Amino acid sequence: MKFHFQKTEPFPGVTVAEWMDWRWQFKSALSTLADFAQHFDLSASEREALSQPSRFPIRSTPYYAALASRTVATDPIRQMVLPRAEELNTGRGQQISDPLGERAHSPLERVIHRYPDRVLFLITDQCSLYCRYCLRKHFTGQDQAFVGSSDYEKALEYIRGGRGIREVILSGGDPLTLGDSRLERVLSDLRAIEHVEIIRIASRMPVVAPMRVTDELCALFKRYKPVYFMTHFNHPRELSFEAAECLERLVDHGVPVFNQMVLLNGINNHVAVVQALSRRLLFLRVKPYYMFQCDPSEGSEHFRTSVEESLEIQRQLWGRLSGLAMPNFSLDIPGGGGKVGLTPNFETARADSQREYRGFDGVHGVYRAPAGPSVLPADLSDYLGEWEELAGQRYGR
Ligand code: SF4
Repeated sequence: MKFHFQKTEPFPGVTVAEWMDWRWQFKSALSTLADFAQHFDLSASEREALSQPSRFPIRSTPYYAALASRTVATDPIRQMVLPRAEELNTGRGQQISDPLGERAHSPLERVIHRYPDRVLFLITDQCSLYCRYCLRKHFTGQDQAFVGSSDYEKALEYIRGGRGIREVILSGGDPLTLGDSRLERVLSDLRAIEHVEIIRIASRMPVVAPMRVTDELCALFKRYKPVYFMTHFNHPRELSFEAAECLERLVDHGVPVFNQMVLLNGINNHVAVVQALSRRLLFLRVKPYYMFQCDPSEGSEHFRTSVEESLEIQRQLWGRLSGLAMPNFSLDIPGGGGKVGLTPNFETARADSQREYRGFDGVHGVYRAPAGPSVLPADLSDYLGEWEELAGQRYGR
């Protein structure tokens, strides 16, 4: 089946040239009750959330708002844009302001160093859409300029000094809210550090303002390769014609693109939705990389699903989606324990020398341990030093 990616309709009175101009999209962002009331028949719950001074920022590009239903409050896209009254109730369940314990793993402002070989570098706190379930709500939307500041220089110094840091993940906020020249400064500063091998850009811009990803920006990423692009589509309807073109632009410039989705209650928590998203992404040469359990951040209780529900979705996908199309299911341990991978259990029995499994379609089989002993690779010493260096590090110093 060839997929159909539909073009968005500009808002009444807006020209196609304006609609396709990312600066116009940023400048015309919707952020108040009056803005949203122009384009949506607001429910009582949405009105309540929009009319109270929210603890969490609210913003959407017109482009993303146009993907949502004007009339149906339970529409999946609309639930990711518009706040609801449930968001104001932060006293229910397990709600944490910093669910991943990132503050405890920040050796200094804007740097999160949770794993030995990589750091998250939060180069902006701005986003073009404030996702209602965001795990970094305690940080985003405070309007602070950063690149070029003394804190930025200190963060760079930290990365320069951490010889074990192999990957830097540019995040925020959304790094692509910055202009090309600022982004180039960050990329060139990082490329000048010899031990930084990989730069990742974590951005929702292909979802919320795909016109931001211009040919010039893609060429910039290519100049500072290897740059990996991590994006965040949650629902097949987010894959519009404009989004599909944006993803193709990135890949055509040699930028590998990966998708990280979050499983969200009432939005994408069904096997049919996850498989539809994965197949379309793969068709566009984007690897479905992670399917995350929603973090228990403040105001996100109504978005969370149980681990059992998520595992059941993955179990049903197993064998029916190719390995290329299958995302890894992962959960961040609340409080800062890091990610753990979760997989459905296909093992039915185990003894000393054998394990038994039942496959996705019910076929049963036994895997017996080999008769001979385990032998190490002959050229192991070529690689052992590199491994021991990594395994011995905690903060790359
Ligand atoms: S784009 Fe990312 S950082 Fe920004 S609100 Fe959405 S999830 Fe949070």
